[in-house]
Amino acid sequence: MIQFSIFQKFPDIQHGIATRHSERDQKHDVVAQQVHGTRFAWVDGPRLQPVPGVDALLTDTPGVRVRIGTSDCVPIIVYEPRTRRGGIIHAGFKGTTQEILAAVLQEFSARHVYLGIGPAVGPECYDDIDIQKENLMQALQAGVPRSHIEVMRFCTKCHSDTFYSYRAGDHINFGTYFELL
Ligand SMILES: [Zn+2]
Repeated sequence: MIQFSIFQKFPDIQHGIATRHSERDQKHDVVAQQVHGTRFAWVDGPRLQPVPGVDALLTDTPGVRVRIGTSDCVPIIVYEPRTRRGGIIHAGFKGTTQEILAAVLQEFSARHVYLGIGPAVGPECYDDIDIQKENLMQALQAGVPRSHIEVMRFCTKCHSDTFYSYRAGDHINFGTYFELL
């Protein structure tokens, strides 16, 4: 599992991004249907079915491990240590242009949240569209301090030996995981 440095100072959460090699060993309590929209859900316990119609899962309940799957879109972990709430967002091209991150940030105090922007297809492999950078701009515009944001600057297609990449021919995704301890 790959982890963001920025969350290392918070021992009360567990997070990680699975690779091609570690994905099958991961467990989760809740997944989302992921429809490339801007809706999100707060979850407080395990769900047998994917939460319908949402692209972000948020929780304030310890022990609930949420999963968002991506294979070129951006997974974004959000955590607000002051209130011990957080979760994961799925932002593809549509979710990014429709500003799902900005929608989710309205649930939090922007200047107190920390963000991890995960691996995604890079502009060199995606018509010059830089979805990581677009989400970074949205976060800054919402008032998240730059020092609270880490961007994991890997292109999933260029690094498809590590990550599943739709554009490299994969039809399954890798998970980003988040849990409050
Ligand atoms: Zn690339």
